[in-house]
Amino acid sequence: MKINLISDTVTQPTPEMLEAMMQAEVGDDVFGEDPTVNALEAKAASLFGKEAAVFCPSGTMTNQIAIKVHTQPLDEVICDEYSHIYQYETGGYAYNSGVAINLIKGQHGKITAEQIKAAIKPVYDWLPLSKLVVLENTCNKGGGSYYTLDEIRPIRSLCIEQNLGLHLDGARLFNALVETKESTQDVGMLFDSISICLSKGLGAPVGSLLIGDSDFIRQARRIRKVMGGGMRQAGYLAAAGVYALDHHVAKLKEDNRRARVIGEMLESLSYVDNVRPVKSNILIFDLNEAYTAESYLAQLANHGIKASAFGPQTVRFVTHLDFTEEMLEQVLEVLKRMT
Ligand SMILES: *Cc1c(COP(=O)(O)O)cnc(C)c1O
Repeated sequence: MKINLISDTVTQPTPEMLEAMMQAEVGDDVFGEDPTVNALEAKAASLFGKEAAVFCPSGTMTNQIAIKVHTQPLDEVICDEYSHIYQYETGGYAYNSGVAINLIKGQHGKITAEQIKAAIKPVYDWLPLSKLVVLENTCNKGGGSYYTLDEIRPIRSLCIEQNLGLHLDGARLFNALVETKESTQDVGMLFDSISICLSKGLGAPVGSLLIGDSDFIRQARRIRKVMGGGMRQAGYLAAAGVYALDHHVAKLKEDNRRARVIGEMLESLSYVDNVRPVKSNILIFDLNEAYTAESYLAQLANHGIKASAFGPQTVRFVTHLDFTEEMLEQVLEVLKRMT
């Protein structure tokens, strides 16, 4: 049994999803004539109570487009130091938008209205202009931590008061919502723009959506095109996204539960120094001197389990749609046996 805990991006489309893709009605989406892409965009927009959405090849692209539309060169983006837009998007905020980044040291990737308020720069010719706040929910490098709506509301009020845009990198937003039971409509009211990934826990092979009001999305479509993200018969991919939103959201609860079970086991093991609080489907833990991340991953690989290093002594597991109950039992067995 091969077990892959490297990321929730490793899933294969299910036979039912493939069938939905095969049946898709398609057209040229650059001309706005792909009915399946249009249906996916309309579905996502209405899910969040927003006017429009645009389908993109990746979450990096939806985030980069959002930053570009929200800012002008010489502005700055405020976010947590763990943010995907800072850590894992190749410095694209500087390259694509010519903006600076103002990093906050949050807790497990989460920041507060007080911290943001203190980070906003006064207006001087020699300072970048604070323009956009980006929150990540769930936070990847933060170990899958999530915000509740009550934590976001004061940030929303501050952004309105200070005339700052508020973007949500919601790559794994649904992993949070199945825990908090909060609604997408309520999330929609708190952000100017939202990015969600279909290719993570939702199990689609490709695709992300950027959601916002019509004027924002009209500009976003232009930026998508100039970035080379205008796709033609993309309805085959959009069909997988529609299928994922209809059938795979509730299943995320299982991914979160399985991560929690592994986390509880790790807590009890002598070679584990520390397990970050397991809130959703990402599990980050530190090893003590018994192992380095490298030697630990090599041992796991011998047992047919793949995972990734998140530092010299730090390992990350991510659970997902293709990680079954049987695999969970196997992982628990292997982890217990390693000493
Ligand atoms: C995966 C991810 C993205 C987007 O990544 P792509 O691989 O470009 O789709 C954005 N933000 C977070 C938090 C992510 O985990």
